[in-house]
Amino acid sequence: MTDIKERLLAIHQRIEACALTCHRDKNEIQLLAVSKARSVSDIKAAMSCGQRHFGENYLQEAQAKIAALSDPAICWHYIGPIQSNKTRAIANSFDWVHSVDRLKIAHRLSEQRSPEKPPLNICLQVNISAEPTKAGLAANDVGAIATEVASMKQLRLRGLMGIPRATSDFEQQRLQFRQLRHLLQRLQLQLPLLDTLSMGMSNDMEAAIVEGATWLRIGTAIFGPRPASNGAMPNYSPEP
Ligand SMILES: *Cc1c(COP(=O)(O)O)cnc(C)c1O
Repeated sequence: MTDIKERLLAIHQRIEACALTCHRDKNEIQLLAVSKARSVSDIKAAMSCGQRHFGENYLQEAQAKIAALSDPAICWHYIGPIQSNKTRAIANSFDWVHSVDRLKIAHRLSEQRSPEKPPLNICLQVNISAEPTKAGLAANDVGAIATEVASMKQLRLRGLMGIPRATSDFEQQRLQFRQLRHLLQRLQLQLPLLDTLSMGMSNDMEAAIVEGATWLRIGTAIFGPRPASNGAMPNYSPEP
């Protein structure tokens, strides 16, 4: 078995075991393989084990892989920072965008998404740990923006995404994910179709599952430690 296959199997077992302990249906918990800084052949290895959803952080890198793989069976998710001059390409290269944190970006994505395509699935990124250096909306601003984004023609608002403050303490992880869940539950009173909590990475996926994650965004636990960014991936230079 390849490393990727073994790791993917192990992840699915962890999801299943955790879902059992917290009485959740494992089918509500989807796995997004975060393939930033990974090669096309790594993605193919994951695909051969049935993985279909891949997440990318940098547009240029993602576009190269999308073109190289050119496979309509893959569902591409954008999870990185969004510059406004990149919205047209993002709107039309991806099926999901998890990292919307400004109204202006949402407007542009909706206007620029091709009318022939189905609406783009959107999560609003929330700065749950309120760290000043982190991307994401302040929790207090989410309600007003969600209502507007939900009305945009070529967008389908699905829910919230968060990246908590890094900690190895399970209860601290849970506390942060719980805040995101409570925020979603409040939004659902107005927007009952919201169904998505994009939260949980390699080091905190169990805490995220217990608190209701529907998309786990997992990189290293599937593909192994990320290669150093100092030229190890010569064709993929992250944008400034
Ligand atoms: C890199 C990244 C991940 C995956 O992180 P791992 O720790 O490798 O699982 C998830 N979400 C976002 C937004 C990322 O940038």
